[in-house]
Amino acid sequence: MNRYTANLCRLEFVVTLACTGRCRHCSEGDHSSSGEFIDGDKAAAAVLSAAKAYKLDSVMTFGGEPLLCPEAVFNIHAAAKKAGIPKRQIITNGFFSRDPEKITLCAERLVESGINAILLSADAFHQETLPLGPVVEFAKACLKAGAEDIRLNPAWLVSPDDRNQYNIETRRIASEFEKLGVSSAKGNVIFPQGNARIYLADYFDLSAPVVNPYDEDPEDLRAVSVSPDGSLLDGSIYSEDIVEILERYSPKSCVGGNSYDI
Ligand code: SF4
Repeated sequence: MNRYTANLCRLEFVVTLACTGRCRHCSEGDHSSSGEFIDGDKAAAAVLSAAKAYKLDSVMTFGGEPLLCPEAVFNIHAAAKKAGIPKRQIITNGFFSRDPEKITLCAERLVESGINAILLSADAFHQETLPLGPVVEFAKACLKAGAEDIRLNPAWLVSPDDRNQYNIETRRIASEFEKLGVSSAKGNVIFPQGNARIYLADYFDLSAPVVNPYDEDPEDLRAVSVSPDGSLLDGSIYSEDIVEILERYSPKSCVGGNSYDI
């Protein structure tokens, strides 16, 4: 087995870079409302194949906004469940439709597909451009559908304890969700990359090197991330078996790592 990927335990899928949000803290920069999305069948095949070769303990889908392409999300997580991968997570901003029927159906199918952790990106930054009402409806629909674990995954500025105006508003939004029975995960602290570097520059020392907390050790990949066009490391899951890509990986030939966002 390739020593650089021998400890791989997590597969991530950037389902699409299209997004309903236009967040000023987004580490990926600007997103458009439409764009390429991953082939759900091929992504599901990659999950099944990788699970035979590696001891995977989690599969995550995110974006952009992954629920703009719900069928791909359902396929990926159904495959993860079939393969016996215990953690099956999605990060979503929760706003993909205003139609109550579509929201309910999506929540039911998410739960049916085997997702067992829904991380909802709701906070002062997301809610500058995303309406809270449909996100609350989505959270309620997930609870009603029997979601095992749905939690807020807020973005904090400077630190979770800092009392800046954004964090104060994020705490207010979190308290709205707590009333519904949705608690908050620890979330993430914004780092100066993409839009955050431009629009929140006053909060950072831009002369210091940027530390991306999601960068992987290229000599010991624990998580890899498949892009919306199927690309992974120096290959593509659309044209070859994911295991072949992972087995030939070398830190000298390509940049590894993940791109966990939101
Ligand atoms: S932070 Fe998330 S929801 Fe906001 S624009 Fe970026 S990908 Fe979209």
